[in-house]
Amino acid sequence: MQIGVHGLVFTGTFDESGLRTAIAGTKEAGFDLLELPLMDPFAVDGALVRRMLDDHGLTMTASLGLDAAHDLSSEDPATSRAGETLLERAVDVVAEAGGRHLCGVIYSAMQKYAAPATPAGRAASAAALRRLADRAAAAGVTLSLEVVNRYETNVINTARAGLRFLEEVGHDNVHLHLDTYHMNIEESGMLEPVLDAGDRLRYVHIGESHRGYLGTGSVDFGSFFRGLARIGYDGPVVFESFSSAVVSASLSNTLGIWRNLWDDSAGLAAHANRFIRDRLRAVETIALH
Ligand code: MN
Repeated sequence: MQIGVHGLVFTGTFDESGLRTAIAGTKEAGFDLLELPLMDPFAVDGALVRRMLDDHGLTMTASLGLDAAHDLSSEDPATSRAGETLLERAVDVVAEAGGRHLCGVIYSAMQKYAAPATPAGRAASAAALRRLADRAAAAGVTLSLEVVNRYETNVINTARAGLRFLEEVGHDNVHLHLDTYHMNIEESGMLEPVLDAGDRLRYVHIGESHRGYLGTGSVDFGSFFRGLARIGYDGPVVFESFSSAVVSASLSNTLGIWRNLWDDSAGLAAHANRFIRDRLRAVETIALH
């Protein structure tokens, strides 16, 4: 299992200087991998990312949330196609950087919708994901769809809705990505969705109910980590946290990061690394009981 951290814990910009900050922070806190936000994958040099990570013995994954102009679930073919083109580049960046996972809200725009998703919109997204999944599989990259709360997509808000959508997609290189922050809003508990997802769960975000320090909110991490142990999960487990202390032009406003929940990236990250590893180790021993 690889334990990682989202780049926005350290910096809101991912040019070479921002990358240096994020990679140094990731290493210093004790993580194995950096999750790179790829909101604009055309601006990222995957080969450079790979060299910089190699220097620190780290690996990477990537995530993104599409915007309205690149909404894969749009009924407008040009908009959906623009999303597909952006995701093709994102897949290529991950492959160039030596990563094996692309995740996040890669099936719709990451935004509040004013109406439910339509069958035609879902079908457009599913068809594009099938094509992207072929490209990703050829590059050794797995696609995982992040189940997020109702204010950030209208396509999949629960693990079971995610599983139903995976059936519509119908490709064995497209899986689920669960995030404890979103689960805490939408699910009936933290254990059942993990068990339901089972081997379709290929990516995990660990976030607190207010997206700040782990253990200071209302997320039932005990149940969630038991679920991971129960299904034998061994994919990436990535800490995600946001504060107005670190601002990304493309992400912070979309996610509604209006408050300053921490201003010490290094302390926050080191704490999260310990928190996650301690819990994963503890639930491992349940197999001995
Ligand atoms: Mn997340």
